[in-house]
Amino acid sequence: MRRDLMDILACPVCKNELTLHVDREDDDEVLEGSLHCATCDETYPIGDGIPNLLPPDLRREMEAETAAPQGDNS
Ligand SMILES: [Zn+2]
Repeated sequence: MRRDLMDILACPVCKNELTLHVDREDDDEVLEGSLHCATCDETYPIGDGIPNLLPPDLRREMEAETAAPQGDNS
């Protein structure tokens, strides 16, 4: 994602602005990183240049469907 996308990106839950953390970037293209909402204390991952802004509940649901169930979640 381009950095200027931050101007239009907002938290899917509360619509407040997000804080960008960059792990890897190419020019002004963020390849790996995360977007953090201070209001929800929720982090949205950026992978392969694509921000994952699914609401956390929905994201966990999808992750649960693709990943094998783990019994040792404490
Ligand atoms: Zn939020």
